[in-house]
Amino acid sequence: MQNRQYYRYPYQREYSTRIISSTAEGSEYHVVLANTIFYPEGGGQPADSGTINEIPILDVFETPDHRIVHVLPQDPGRGDALCKLDWPRRFYHMQHHTGQHLLSAVFFRVYSVQTAGFHLADDYATVDLDTASLSPELLKASELEVNKLVQQNLAVKSYFITAAECSEHSLLRKAPQVDSDIRIIEIDGFDAVPCCGTHVSHTGEVGMVKVIKTERIRGLTRLYYRCGQEAFKDYQFKHDVITSLAVKFSSSDHDVLDRVNGELERKSELERELKKLRHKLLQVEAHQLAGRAAGRLVVHCLPADFGIDSAPVLINEILSLGCYLVLIAVENRLFLAHNLQDSDLDCAGFVKELAPLFDGRGGGKKDFAQVYFPSADKLEGFVSAVAAMLDKVKDS
Ligand SMILES: [Zn+2]
Repeated sequence: MQNRQYYRYPYQREYSTRIISSTAEGSEYHVVLANTIFYPEGGGQPADSGTINEIPILDVFETPDHRIVHVLPQDPGRGDALCKLDWPRRFYHMQHHTGQHLLSAVFFRVYSVQTAGFHLADDYATVDLDTASLSPELLKASELEVNKLVQQNLAVKSYFITAAECSEHSLLRKAPQVDSDIRIIEIDGFDAVPCCGTHVSHTGEVGMVKVIKTERIRGLTRLYYRCGQEAFKDYQFKHDVITSLAVKFSSSDHDVLDRVNGELERKSELERELKKLRHKLLQVEAHQLAGRAAGRLVVHCLPADFGIDSAPVLINEILSLGCYLVLIAVENRLFLAHNLQDSDLDCAGFVKELAPLFDGRGGGKKDFAQVYFPSADKLEGFVSAVAAMLDKVKDS
């Protein structure tokens, strides 16, 4: 653990050290330093980024024999290495990693819920809790407890202990996964856990912890959360959304949700009313069409704003007034139906036989079919062809 400067000085942003080795691996170089400020990926925390002798680091990982390898796109040479850490990114990791400790500690200490996993990425952070469900009330109460710990600005201590000392540690929440060099992170007097990541030195630096989403996943509850600036940016965004909505609905921030719910209810009512009126209009239309029908054939084009669903309604209304073959078009879709019981008319047959001549695609049954055409002209061509075929049937 001697060569892990990031453990001893997690706030160090620049560091001069020596290059031990630089080995070509394909198009990249694997570089080992005498000591490093760059955290290798592990324990749910991503690898640090930064530069070595101004060359950007692509990745940092730890080998099974505990060497830390820095992956570079070019050879940094031999001798001195000037290391510069991508500090904003690291601080984001430190805040969110410490935030995870606080969330996990509260859920365990206060609600006896153990943490099953943690994942930190550049744009989100998650904690998986070993519980299949979490009530909104409990979640809110936990957030409050976590933020109290932030405000108390407790020291976040890190130290190494032996396996024997582990069993004596009264605050230890989880058993270590290694049997030597066991690194403990302790939220002063409240919680301790073996951990290999980087953390802030006092809980106050976490700034704020806010859970923004929960998800049930394989019997666990996954919490998506944000800390510090990220939580604040989220608050800013949501504040903007709520104040804009409040202005739009001439309401206050606190009443806007009730207003929106009220408006949605009103919208549903209006939609039901519109559906009823449209049905009445279709009944009137059906009477007019049946009255004007030449023989048994009714052809009509419904305006597009009536919607596709209106066509079967109109067809049913027409067929309830007598025996007809009805062709109803809505945009480029045509519906065919008839109730001429003793005739050989076959709607599906018309579609199968004639639609391909007009690039139409569709199908159905003897008494009902629908077909879609690429243009209005093609649809009209098909309707004329059906009418001509009916005339032929009549004439013969
Ligand atoms: Zn940790």
